[in-house]
Amino acid sequence: MLYKENSLRVLFFILKRGQLKMVVILKPKTSTEEINKLTRDLESKGVTVNPVIGTELIILGLVGDTSKLDPCYIEANPYVERVMHVQEHFKKANRMFHPEDSIIDVNGNTIGGRKISVIAGPCSVETEEQIITVAKDVKKYGASFLRGGAFKPRTSPYSFQGLKYDGLELLKIAREQTGLPIVTEIMSPYDIEVFNENVDVIQVGARNMQNFDLLKELGKTNKTILLKRGLSATIEELLMSAEYIMAGGNENVILCERGIRTFETYTRNTLDLSAIPAIKKLSHLPVIVDPSHAAGKWWMVEPLAKAAVAVGADGLIIEVHNDPQKAWCDGQQSIKPELFSNIMDDLRIIAEAVGREI
Ligand code: PEP
Ligand code: MN
Repeated sequence: MLYKENSLRVLFFILKRGQLKMVVILKPKTSTEEINKLTRDLESKGVTVNPVIGTELIILGLVGDTSKLDPCYIEANPYVERVMHVQEHFKKANRMFHPEDSIIDVNGNTIGGRKISVIAGPCSVETEEQIITVAKDVKKYGASFLRGGAFKPRTSPYSFQGLKYDGLELLKIAREQTGLPIVTEIMSPYDIEVFNENVDVIQVGARNMQNFDLLKELGKTNKTILLKRGLSATIEELLMSAEYIMAGGNENVILCERGIRTFETYTRNTLDLSAIPAIKKLSHLPVIVDPSHAAGKWWMVEPLAKAAVAVGADGLIIEVHNDPQKAWCDGQQSIKPELFSNIMDDLRIIAEAVGREI
C-alpha cells in the first residue's frame, strides 16, 4: 500500500500518544472531493481529522472529543466502509489489521475462500460399523470432513458421555478408510496432547467457549480449532474467545454459529443468521454454521443450511446418522444420508448463486 508518508507518520504519532479516538475507513477510490466533504462535516462537529490516503485504503484518524459523534450517522455515508473506536478489544481476529479473508488449510482441505466446506457425521461415535458407514456415505455425497463426538458434553450426568479414547480410535479408522479429516470435541485441557496427536480439527463446544484455560492451552498448539459460539454469547464474546487462542500464537481458528438461547422454545436454539455477515465484517476468520444444533429438529436442517450458504457462511457442520431413531445422542436433529445427499445438491445451486462453490 502506498501512503502519503508524512500523513501516516502523523497518524502513528497521535496513535502512540493515545490521542486517536476514532478511525473512519473509507471505500477505496473515494474521490478527493468526497474525502474533503466528509472531513469538513466531521470538523464542524469539533474533532480534528487526520487523513491517510493509500492506494487500497483511505483512513481518517479522528482526534479530540468524539463523544458527540454517532458512528451510525458516519456509516450512513455511502463512501464509508467502517467506523471504529480505537480501543478495539480484539486484535488478531480483527479484519482491520488483516483485511483479507483467512483461508485455513487442514491437510490440503481448505476452509474459507471461495469453496464452502461441509463437515458431516453423527453427533457421537457409537460403533465401528456406525462411524464407518456414515463416513463413507457423507464422503460419497460431498462432505470434506467427518465429525463425530467421542467426549460428549451432556446436560445430564446419566446420559451417554461418549466412548472417549476408544471413540478417537474409531474416528481414526474411519479417517483411514475414507481419507476424511476428523473433527471432534475436546472437553478438558488434560486431553490436548492426545487430540494434538490424533485429530485434524479440534472442536471447542458451545459450553466451553469461555473455558479460558482450555483456550489458552489450544493457543499453544498449531492445530485448527473449530470454536463454537456459546449458548448465550455475544458476537464480540465469541471473537474475544478466538482472540485467546490467537494471542497464544495459533491463528488457525474457525468460528461456528450454532444458535443462541432466546425466549423461543419451539426450536432448540435460535439460529442467528445475522451473525454471519456481522462476523465477516468484523473479522477475517472463516465462519461456519451448525443448523443441526440450532434447530434441534431434523426437518429444519435443510432450510437453515440453505439460508446459511445464502448469507455467506464459509461452511456447514451437519449431524448425519444412518439410523437417527436409534442414535445414542441427538437423533431428533440428525438427518439420514439420503437427505444429506439431496441437501448437498441444492446447496451447490445456492453456492453458485452467491459466487461460491461446494
Ligand atoms: C456437538 O457439536 O455435538 C455439540 C455438542 O455442539 P454444541 O457445543 O454447539 O452444543
Ligand atoms: Mn449433537
